[in-house]
Amino acid sequence: MIGVDMTDNRIGNIVIVGGGTAGWMSAAALCRILHRDCKIHLIESDEIGTVGVGEATVPHIASFNKLLEINEPEFVRQTQGTFKLGIQFNDWGRVGDSYVHGFGSLGHDLSGIAFHHYWHRAYAAGAAKDLGAYSLNTLAAPQGRFMVSAADARKDSPLAQIAYAYHFDAGLYAQYLRRYAEARGVKRTEGKIQQVLLRPNDGFVDAVVLESGERISGELFIDCSGFRGLLIEDALHTGYEDWTHWLPCDRAWAVPCTKVGPPTPYTRSTARGAGWQWRIPLQHRTGNGYVYSSRHISDDEAASVLLSHLDGEALGAPRPLKFTTGRRKKFWNKNVVAIGLAGGFMEPLESTSIHLIQSALSRLGLLFPTREFSPVLTDQFNEQSIFEHERIRDFLILHYYATERRDTAFWAYCASMDIPDTLKNKLALFKDSGRFFREGEEMFTVVSWVQVMIGQRIELAAHHPMADNLSGPELREFVEHVEKVIASCVQAMPPHQAFIDRHCRADYTQIP
Ligand SMILES: Cc1cc2nc3c(=O)[nH]c(=O)nc-3n(C[C@H](O)[C@H](O)[C@H](O)COP(=O)(O)OP(=O)(O)OC[C@H]3O[C@@H](n4cnc5c(N)ncnc54)[C@H](O)[C@@H]3O)c2cc1C
Repeated sequence: MIGVDMTDNRIGNIVIVGGGTAGWMSAAALCRILHRDCKIHLIESDEIGTVGVGEATVPHIASFNKLLEINEPEFVRQTQGTFKLGIQFNDWGRVGDSYVHGFGSLGHDLSGIAFHHYWHRAYAAGAAKDLGAYSLNTLAAPQGRFMVSAADARKDSPLAQIAYAYHFDAGLYAQYLRRYAEARGVKRTEGKIQQVLLRPNDGFVDAVVLESGERISGELFIDCSGFRGLLIEDALHTGYEDWTHWLPCDRAWAVPCTKVGPPTPYTRSTARGAGWQWRIPLQHRTGNGYVYSSRHISDDEAASVLLSHLDGEALGAPRPLKFTTGRRKKFWNKNVVAIGLAGGFMEPLESTSIHLIQSALSRLGLLFPTREFSPVLTDQFNEQSIFEHERIRDFLILHYYATERRDTAFWAYCASMDIPDTLKNKLALFKDSGRFFREGEEMFTVVSWVQVMIGQRIELAAHHPMADNLSGPELREFVEHVEKVIASCVQAMPPHQAFIDRHCRADYTQIP
């Protein structure tokens, strides 16, 4: 007789607290990867609401959509989405500067040496254009061109591997994921949690109690309750590491405006006197926000700076957001895993928050516990999460620190602040010899770092000596060839709007 496995200690009951982007991404991913009998219960409060921003992503989201088997045109249509080839940074190195941090590759590496070394040599000799001319994304973005990878392109053509992400309406994205998760059995309860009950013996969370008196218990709790961290902080007092001294922006105003032209296939970030302004084009409107340091500008002044720099007409009054940049000391504590803003927050300069939700879910999948909650799994989860956050933190600090701006107290502070040793070492190596190494599984690639370092006017004392192996004419020919290939590929790309119209145009009349 085939017996029932009495030793099954798999988790069978998960409670997700929060129904923002993090809560619904967690619900959608977990119902996809966990065993059929595992119950997933999501609680959200309409009265508290969600943060409601978070509309620009990075290319890694493709693997999340693949896991969910999402149909891309349908997804873009339903979220009023557009495509993103990178981020344009204006006025960051100096007022008047503009560069694009494009996704994907840069130029063409030769004999194992990264392209930027050859570029540096050629540029110094006056034989190369600005770095952006050698990246498909960077060149295509300001020209407003976009397409997904061409299936019929030669394997080595830049058109065969176009890296891109999305802009989408945060509210519609959460609704999309909610439909997905509920259709696969996730139970949703609307209500405000009033109390968190801990098990007396070990301090694990036992249940949450709603205002209605309903008690919902679980074995594993995913805290997606936003900045406050209802379980991870209020109940478990995990602690928070504050990074405001390195990333001084602590507030934002957000406001959508009417669109005034075809959507750009990139996010725009414009440095302002006490922070920076984002511009995220969607199909039906444009999202805008001013992320600023409250020590350097008043709230009223910041709101008026934002409103005076919109492309179109503001659709409503700006909404204020306050945050403390940093991370929870532990992302996983006892039987609570904090995902999304409950785990920490770094400003949206490189659109990393949704990615951090996704990578936390992937890590949770890989380190998924049994009812025993082995501390070894928990420690590993925390170690990897901390590493990931700290490397992203360094990349963001780079944008502020590597500036020649001193025109306001904010920029003077950024340029003179002490920075983490990990970043100091990377900068020293790059300035000295153009070398850069991606550490372990850190999020940003060498190409990302190089584009931002060069874009922020960091000067190299030298390049790799092997880039001198080409003769002068060989070098010129190589660099010109790369430029020509990129330019001709960009010419073959359709306008972004035409691509959307053809494949995934949303129905504007469906917008609430
Ligand atoms: C200014 C700004 C700009 C941003 N831009 C980007 C961007 O461009 N790209 C990007 O990737 N990310 C961005 N982010 C981050 C992104 O918005 C968040 O990562 C994302 O929205 C996830 O939020 P969340 O779900 O963790 O929290 P929230 O949206 O705050 O959701 C919290 C949920 O918890 C529920 N809740 C809280 N307390 C209770 C309670 N007591 N009882 C019941 N339910 C409760 C709420 O009802 C809500 O459903 C930005 C963030 C900010 C602040």
